[in-house]
Amino acid sequence: MIVVKNKADCCGCTACYSVCPKKAISMQQDQEGFLYPFVEISKCIDCKLCDSACPIENKIESKMFDRKAYVLRAKDVEIVSTSTSGGFVTPLGEWILNQGGVICGATYNEEYKVIHKISGGAEEFRGSKYVQSDLGDCFSEIKKHLMQETKVCFIGTPCQVYGLKSYLRKEYDNLVTVDLVCHGTPSPKLWKKYLDEQKDKYHSEIDDIVFRNKTYGYHSGTMRIRFKNQFVYYGSARVDPMLKSFFAEISSRPSCYQCHFKSVERCSDFTIYDCWHANNLVEGLVDDDKGFTNLIVQSSKGERILDRIADRYELYATNLEKAIELDGTMICHSAEPHPRRDEYYLNLDKETLRAHIQKFVPIRIRDYLIEKSKGIFYRMGVYKFLKNKK
Ligand SMILES: Cc1cc2nc3c(=O)[nH]c(=O)nc-3n(C[C@H](O)[C@H](O)[C@H](O)COP(=O)(O)OP(=O)(O)OC[C@H]3O[C@@H](n4cnc5c(N)ncnc54)[C@H](O)[C@@H]3O)c2cc1C
Repeated sequence: MIVVKNKADCCGCTACYSVCPKKAISMQQDQEGFLYPFVEISKCIDCKLCDSACPIENKIESKMFDRKAYVLRAKDVEIVSTSTSGGFVTPLGEWILNQGGVICGATYNEEYKVIHKISGGAEEFRGSKYVQSDLGDCFSEIKKHLMQETKVCFIGTPCQVYGLKSYLRKEYDNLVTVDLVCHGTPSPKLWKKYLDEQKDKYHSEIDDIVFRNKTYGYHSGTMRIRFKNQFVYYGSARVDPMLKSFFAEISSRPSCYQCHFKSVERCSDFTIYDCWHANNLVEGLVDDDKGFTNLIVQSSKGERILDRIADRYELYATNLEKAIELDGTMICHSAEPHPRRDEYYLNLDKETLRAHIQKFVPIRIRDYLIEKSKGIFYRMGVYKFLKNKK
């Protein structure tokens, strides 16, 4: 029977919950707002399937394969402008859908909670949401699709991909998996608090959210929230309390600081991550600040698929070691937790997030001034010029 003795040893992937034949396991929020399995003893038959499905207790060996690295972006400019980096997933997803397949990725529900969902459209999955997504019953639904021989594309954090594979217990030819290089996921409770406070502050419901909007360029990714009252909020990691919490390593799940899935070799077919050094990775490539994705092809299945969809991307082969050295520190290393990480969550409910973050990772007046002038220069039409001069 699954027992979480140490929170760092549970990534909340739902494999144990999904595999239980008696539905004895539910996923329940702890005080920080992360989901953990809870076993109803009276329903448990001690079959131990939950233990054998846990990807942390049973590490899947990675495949022998000559891994290749690419810098890419979608040829469709609309996909690039609305994706976090170069928009790898949408063209891949469309290719799967054209064959009658389905995609399972992270999106928002009506309340802007981050959830995984199976969908017949690729667009809604665009963009990183820096919050742990709720997988719900996706794993068992994916299994049903796979058994009916439907092609499935699953995109998630490494622990979610390992969780899915560990739950499935066998390789399926019709399953394509994409994992992200991930440095940690903040809690859904923190995200809800942030959204509630934003709605209060701007007196409106939300219409649309982008964690890394590219108005100020790829390299200055900014939280953008469009409100129903037409107000548009922009906040970079310099001043936005949610992004600040995320990047300061103060808000991730305990298991993220000792991530069990750090390795160049993954069990997925593709690994994607940010590309900050496109011009250093590809000779002659000009970084126009619109965003490229770093891609590692992890399997021969991945290689075959990339061959089929290559014409949908600007695609440049690059050196794997160099791509890891320049952009991929988080592929092999877990983030160091902020020294006051536990205190941050312990007192989270006592004040607004903006007041709270100020006590841990202060936002300086200088930061607000830089942020304000950015907006003014942008509206004057000189922002790009000044940025390039810098
Ligand atoms: C929580 C998190 C942490 C990350 N940390 C890093 C990092 O430290 N370094 C780095 O280089 N890159 C990191 N990334 C990846 C990065 O944000 C981009 O996803 C990557 O550059 C690929 O961009 P893209 O434009 O090709 O795809 P995107 O448009 O970003 O789409 C990627 C896919 O990610 C999935 N996704 C979005 N949010 C989540 C989520 N919360 N959980 C699971 N899946 C999700 C969506 O289904 C989407 O299809 C992280 C991503 C996430 C979600």
